[in-house]
Amino acid sequence: MAREYGTENWIDWCPGCGNFGIVSSVYRAFSELELEPENTVLVSGIGCSGKMPHFVGVNGVHTLHGRAIPFATGIKMSNPDLEVVVNGGDGDLLGIGAGHFVALGRRNLNVLVMMHDNRVYGLTKGQASPTLPRDIQTKALDKPNIHSAVKPLSLALVSGYTHISRSFAMDSDHLTEMIKEGIEHDGAAFLDILQPCVTYNDIHTSDFFRERIEKLSDWDPEKDKSEVYRKMREYSGSEKIPTGVIYRDQDEPTFSDRLFKHHREKSPSQRTVERKGASTLSKDEFISKFEDLVVKRGF
Ligand code: SF4
Ligand code: MG
Repeated sequence: MAREYGTENWIDWCPGCGNFGIVSSVYRAFSELELEPENTVLVSGIGCSGKMPHFVGVNGVHTLHGRAIPFATGIKMSNPDLEVVVNGGDGDLLGIGAGHFVALGRRNLNVLVMMHDNRVYGLTKGQASPTLPRDIQTKALDKPNIHSAVKPLSLALVSGYTHISRSFAMDSDHLTEMIKEGIEHDGAAFLDILQPCVTYNDIHTSDFFRERIEKLSDWDPEKDKSEVYRKMREYSGSEKIPTGVIYRDQDEPTFSDRLFKHHREKSPSQRTVERKGASTLSKDEFISKFEDLVVKRGF
């Protein structure tokens, strides 16, 4: 039977926001993958997108601005058996969090990074985000944007992500598939989600995206990177926006492989031997001690 992943929390995004399409696709993807809530962690930073963990019934961490990726890295490396998904906005991941975004790709950490790409900072009243193209003036700007935009897919590719895709918040079937693929990929996955912000972005609306999206067909994403660059260049001078899986590499070792196999380390969740600074408890022993101290005795 399909699990329900909703919570009792009031979802307080603006009516019509593309984030509703994203959260419903997250419910569908998690349900179809039958993710166990106790073994799944959704990590967010700050922004409208940052509220997501409050609305999804799995373990959630709503962290600091731009710092979702370091938190997720610690969680995944402490217990690689957990399914970890990072959920952030374009400002959070590619502005203040850009260094962490690059570091995650270099490590090929086995997590999915989902980016709500609405090209503005919605929570703080619509300033230009790193993905807003230069010379574009959305309604909250008093002058056109003077910064050039970051190209998220290109940045992910040069950083080392091994699964790179794009989808649209209002196309739930496609977005659900992209989330599932990203989670199932063994390595760093990046999913750029085109997300209308109906309150502050009057240019990149649902209709804007619908008129320009071109789903990649006849495209094998398991290609040499130079061919992927060539494909992306084809689109750079055009109005069309490609969606789908653009790049996939299934051979690159993940960060866990590199650290735990090559260096013969164990994750803290698997360590039972006493060592300075390391846990001496197994996970089950820890849970039982936690229940005794915190749940029963109220410490
Ligand atoms: Fe959505 Fe924009 Fe409202 Fe934030 S400000 S909830 S991104 S419509
Ligand atoms: Mg944004």
